[in-house]
Amino acid sequence: MTSSLISLTGKALPAPNVLIIRMPWADGRSVLSALKRWALCLFVLLGACTFYDQIMGDGRLPAFNEVGHLPEIHTLVHTNSTLDFPHTQAPARGWQALRQSRSLLSALSPEIAAWVYELRQNNRIVYNETPATLWLYSKPASTPMLAAYEGMSGKLYVGADFWHLSDGEKAAILAHEYRHARQNWPKQISVRLAQYLGGAQLSDQSRLEYEAFDYERQARAALGLSPLMAQHQP
Ligand SMILES: [Zn+2]
Repeated sequence: MTSSLISLTGKALPAPNVLIIRMPWADGRSVLSALKRWALCLFVLLGACTFYDQIMGDGRLPAFNEVGHLPEIHTLVHTNSTLDFPHTQAPARGWQALRQSRSLLSALSPEIAAWVYELRQNNRIVYNETPATLWLYSKPASTPMLAAYEGMSGKLYVGADFWHLSDGEKAAILAHEYRHARQNWPKQISVRLAQYLGGAQLSDQSRLEYEAFDYERQARAALGLSPLMAQHQP
């Protein structure tokens, strides 16, 4: 027996398209197979990202000029020109406050100084703010932070505590964040995926930090600073 829909005017309406959606929770087996497929996809993606990172890497990184022995640099490295920096978020004030650290960066690595300048040109430096979430990485609001580079937005966050460092330390922190900015996307994705798949034990978050701290350590040595690194996340 067939049935048709009749409109108020008496005309037959076309039969509606019926879409049958089989919900995955309809039975236990469907849920299990859906979960298996998702897990397989995630592991394949994880493998592909890791493979890309192993093959392509992060490209050539700028080496540092050894400038710590120069008397004029030595003085700048150990002073803090921003002790009285007001807690303002005005970009022009922040940029001005970074002047001495930028001079040090120009001597240390013109490429990194150019990167900071480019961020400034694109309004991607955020002053005295701690981002609540950094691209799939949530951190407690109470975690102290000197600086952070946010890969998704391409923004550099400079925390309030940053201004308490000497100008040389600030330059080294900027080198640390530059290293994060150079970390390839598949590597970042694989680290996050590992974090979500395996929890803290399997999380390779430390790999991202290890690379950045190692680069920072090289910057500190070239500036004549002690290798003791400022602890900051991320
Ligand atoms: Zn870091």
